[in-house]
Amino acid sequence: MKIGTKAIHAGVEPDPGTGAIMTPIFQTSTYVQKAPGVHAGYAYGRTSNPTRTALQASIAALENAKYGICFSSGMAAIDAILKLLVPGDEVIASNDLYGGSYRLFIQVFERYGIKFHFENMQVAENIRPLINENTKLIWVETPTNPMLNIVDIDAVCSIAKEKGVKVCVDNTFASPYLQNPLDLGADMVMHSATKYLGGHSDTVHGAVVTSDEALREQLAFHQKASGAVPGPQDCFLILRGIKTLHVRMQRHCENGRAIAEFLRDHDRVAGVNWPGFESHPNHEIAKVQMRDYGGMMSFSLKDDTLDSAVDLMSKTKLFALAESLGGVESLIGHPASMTHASIPKEEREKTGLVDSLIRLSVGIEDAEDLIADLKAALS
Ligand SMILES: *Cc1c(COP(=O)(O)O)cnc(C)c1O
Repeated sequence: MKIGTKAIHAGVEPDPGTGAIMTPIFQTSTYVQKAPGVHAGYAYGRTSNPTRTALQASIAALENAKYGICFSSGMAAIDAILKLLVPGDEVIASNDLYGGSYRLFIQVFERYGIKFHFENMQVAENIRPLINENTKLIWVETPTNPMLNIVDIDAVCSIAKEKGVKVCVDNTFASPYLQNPLDLGADMVMHSATKYLGGHSDTVHGAVVTSDEALREQLAFHQKASGAVPGPQDCFLILRGIKTLHVRMQRHCENGRAIAEFLRDHDRVAGVNWPGFESHPNHEIAKVQMRDYGGMMSFSLKDDTLDSAVDLMSKTKLFALAESLGGVESLIGHPASMTHASIPKEEREKTGLVDSLIRLSVGIEDAEDLIADLKAALS
């Protein structure tokens, strides 16, 4: 089955009791048992909920995975993955990373004795010297946020397999429409479903998928034991969002290209980071592992000052100044003070995340209107 058909049909069945074509919102905390321990597979709402079960199957299908495990946010999903580790274990992570992931790694899990190495994974071989007997997890983000660098997932997974280390890919930026890391050798894929999967900026939600039964068991254990579970209403909203994922992504990609080309040709713009350009340093890898290039990009201005960037961000009208990404509406943001403020300035600047960098999440409005908005703000 192809992705559009899966987005609409995978994991969902008409409700057997009523025929309702849409998965009902099972707003219940408990389920009546026929006799102690005799029930229809559902005993308590933290452990399982039928709306969540449908969503987990849907996301798993989109990523060509056997299992999906959903959480109350993307961060809760990452938290559950890190709980697979024990003190003394080491993690190698991309150095150009979502700020919240960096904060969870350093400010929470480092205190529990987990060691983190941050490395530029655009050259996959860079991870080899960091791997030792304590290395248990490689954490990949691609495209990276906010520099839009591309990591060769297949190459990283080959090195990891040689050494018996698990790989998890944060696939939030790409969505399953653009790439499927499990097919390239990853063991787990994590999503902030708040972004493209939900797609409407109305829900916070997270997911992990895997085809490894042992990993599924441990992740489901942490889902139940720690209890960072999504509510049934939120599961319904993500399921509904997924039904149009492929249509939205197609437009995000078309608009992304139109806006990236407009910015590249504008005389006030210094450089645009967008993997669809042949001039992008990792374009060749992007071409192989992604189906298209998405609507996320970042750029800086020739008058490379914080003031001119702030000025531009306060002048756009359709591009709303806000955190987050992946919704139908276009957003503009300032990574240094917003999404990446929790990363120290010296660390940020090592990856090129300068104070004047501007990030766009291009929505699915009409490209002509979006370009007119940027043109007016830039003039
Ligand atoms: C937003 C985001 C997260 C965190 O997800 P939440 O749903 O906000 O908890 C993790 N990784 C990336 C790449 C993100 O953009």
